[in-house]
Amino acid sequence: MQKKIEIFDTTLRDGEQSPGATLSIEEKLKIAHQLAKLNVDTIEAGFPIASNDDFEAVKLIAQNVEGPYISGLARAIEKDILCSWNAVKYSNKPCIHTFISTSDIHLKYMFKKTREQILEMTKNAVKLAKSLTDRVQFSAMDATRTDKDYLCKVIQTAIDKGAVVVNIPDTVGYSQPDEFGRLINYIKENVENINNAMISVHCHNDLGLAVSNSLEAIKRGAGQVEGTINGIGERAGNASLEEIIMNLKTRTDYFNCTTNINIKEIYPISKMVSQYTGISVQRNKAIVGENAFSHEAGIHQHGMLSNPLCYEIMKPEDIGRITKMVFGKHSGKHAIENGLKKLNYKFSQEQLNKITEKIKELADKQKTILEEDIIAIADYELNKSSNYLY
Ligand SMILES: [Zn+2]
Repeated sequence: MQKKIEIFDTTLRDGEQSPGATLSIEEKLKIAHQLAKLNVDTIEAGFPIASNDDFEAVKLIAQNVEGPYISGLARAIEKDILCSWNAVKYSNKPCIHTFISTSDIHLKYMFKKTREQILEMTKNAVKLAKSLTDRVQFSAMDATRTDKDYLCKVIQTAIDKGAVVVNIPDTVGYSQPDEFGRLINYIKENVENINNAMISVHCHNDLGLAVSNSLEAIKRGAGQVEGTINGIGERAGNASLEEIIMNLKTRTDYFNCTTNINIKEIYPISKMVSQYTGISVQRNKAIVGENAFSHEAGIHQHGMLSNPLCYEIMKPEDIGRITKMVFGKHSGKHAIENGLKKLNYKFSQEQLNKITEKIKELADKQKTILEEDIIAIADYELNKSSNYLY
């Protein structure tokens, strides 16, 4: 039987911490509604103690968005946890996500606390959160640079006090896939009560490995992955949820896992997030990049037209987008003819030769030929006759 992997979206919390990204409360609400359509399992709506606006946004989302758990982040201190609860309590599926650092470097320089003190704070924080709601998630910040046995001790304590999700973040994006996978195994083998909670992972992309690390953790038994739409987030960002989801979907033969995600909503949410945050998606980005399903080389275009499976392992319409054929100097006549047919043009062979020639001429001058360019050239050739039924 296929295992169900839960998707925890933190676009509105970690994603919004991207340099330059600020979202209004209304935009956050719209994104949250779209995330509910995408059918993520949890929406981390914000960090309520961080500012009044953050608090209001989390509260508004908890009041209005149904389906996923609505989570509010809280440091492992009483005022944060109470504040988070006061914002998420309006949801019928509230979640308190409390976190604390566990690595020696963070303890020494950021917290100025001993390991024993951190353990005590974990105990109290989870206990308090659990007295407010059942869905309590605990994160051990900087887990991948934490002494393994101490990490296991902290996790065991959090589960003992009622955490139902224990999150292992690679906060600084430092881990390598196999190493991260071995850490997940170590936790499974050394935390006695691990079966009472779900293991979650939260990977950063500083070395470009956030998605790989997340997928490796799934292979080793993680039940939840965290990430953001388009991979936005602090520094090099978080794991791209759309990439994780489409890996699991495209390679079910390999992972034997499913998600609850409605993949037709992937492209619409990607567009919305880039539009509202002002962070554009790089053209060649997997799944959602402008070029992800475009083909320019003639041999590719010919193959695509005969059977898209020649070069496509996923169907663009499945994730809510259409294939955009880009015409350039490497395009063959075949592809151009087909593109024109799609636009309802009919040409004689002679006209077609002329148009192909013009498109290639233009491609020498400008790198990309857009649909508008083709229309202009075709119209010119037809002398604006009535054949054009766009
Ligand atoms: Zn993070």
